[in-house]
Amino acid sequence: MIRFDDQVAIVTGAGVGLGRCHALGLAARGAKVVINDLGVSTQGTSTGSDAAQSVVAEIIAMGGQAMAHGADVSDADQVADMVSKTMERFGRIDILVNNAGILLDKTFAKMTMADFRKVIDVHLIGSANCAHAVWPIMREQKYGRIVLTSSGSGLYGNFGQSNYGAAKAAMMGLMNVLHIEGARDDIRVNTLAPTAATRMTEELLPPEALEVLKPETITPGLLYLVSKDAPSKTILSAGAGTFAQTRVYETQGVLIDGDITPEAIAAHWEQITDPTNQEEMQDAFSQTRKYAKRAAEARNINLDW
Ligand code: NAD
Repeated sequence: MIRFDDQVAIVTGAGVGLGRCHALGLAARGAKVVINDLGVSTQGTSTGSDAAQSVVAEIIAMGGQAMAHGADVSDADQVADMVSKTMERFGRIDILVNNAGILLDKTFAKMTMADFRKVIDVHLIGSANCAHAVWPIMREQKYGRIVLTSSGSGLYGNFGQSNYGAAKAAMMGLMNVLHIEGARDDIRVNTLAPTAATRMTEELLPPEALEVLKPETITPGLLYLVSKDAPSKTILSAGAGTFAQTRVYETQGVLIDGDITPEAIAAHWEQITDPTNQEEMQDAFSQTRKYAKRAAEARNINLDW
């Protein structure tokens, strides 16, 4: 049984939608939960919502412990205040679920750079702010579980979402590095790529799809990603009860020995893109080693790296 007794979790954007569902799921399994929410509309404008307080009330009614905090995740000072209030109240932070998000969709031709930056600020800088604020605490505890929230729009692309797609793809890059740096202190970092019926998607999807894409079908995946036995550096894609791992592979590729010209690239395109024996790279230098070794071998240079 996966339980979170004596553990403390912060869930950002937990007033409604997926975040609320994750927070309730964590509380139902024993976690003390900080319900962070700025209470804004899907476009990030203020609505003065008290949704965070009502999630706290739901958790207390279940017999759990929770507190609300209205930090704007894109503001590092407000995030620092949230983390210090969490420490004052609960004394530790085991789990961070970076879930808060907004949309400012427009074709790239019509998008202002202010709207591009705003979405990056909430999703990428917001996630980095929260991870950065809990990082020393998790290192000290020698335990931490962090989840970043990505999206098919970032992993695969979606019309009208250059800002959101870029921000969501950046989650993978942040995860890859935090995974490596956190490993020695048992800080595991994963990414959830959900697709769910929430206010964010209710006008974009057919009613029959909304019916099956309930947030409750996603949360068990999140709970596994923040559990004691969680994997690390995993992108878990989830929707309507289907769970899949999204991976980045590199093809074996080909060494062009001799004249490295654009024409040679064109001539080798089939081999360069051939997926046979494609593999995941452990880190950036695994790739550099692969290339350097292959070139050295072809020239009879002994490269012991
Ligand atoms: P939602 O709009 O229902 O909830 C988002 C919450 O984040 C809101 O409560 C909002 O007030 C809060 N928030 C927004 N900006 C904030 C900020 N700066 N600081 C603190 N809180 C802030 O959205 P959702 O559908 O539940 O999405 C949750 C996450 O999942 C988002 O990161 C979203 O991009 C991602 N996602 C959702 C889907 C989907 O199908 N719903 C798909 C892919 C990814």
